[in-house]
Amino acid sequence: MRKSRAKPKWVKSLAQKQTDKLLSLAKEEIDKNPERSKRYSQLAKKTATKYNLKINKKTICPNCGILLIPGKNLKVRTNKQKQIIYICQACGQTQKTGYSRETLKKDKKS
Ligand SMILES: [Zn+2]
Repeated sequence: MRKSRAKPKWVKSLAQKQTDKLLSLAKEEIDKNPERSKRYSQLAKKTATKYNLKINKKTICPNCGILLIPGKNLKVRTNKQKQIIYICQACGQTQKTGYSRETLKKDKKS
């Protein structure tokens, strides 16, 4: 049987601190230095995936890896199918989630 290679808690907490710091740095740099901000958010995503940490899907664009800030580079819209649509201003990538009970049920089934 294969041994589980779960990371110890202290390693995970260190990685969590690192990702939080990287995300705050990315937020600071987004006006002055967009390229550096992009790099910070990509590093945050990388560490989060390596240490199996949860990161909100709406904080980083899945296509271009830029940090998403609502009202700045993220459009948030709703449609008649009771969905919330997040549109990245940099590349036009869209993400959809339902907000009513029925659409949430449908999303879970499919
Ligand atoms: Zn994007």
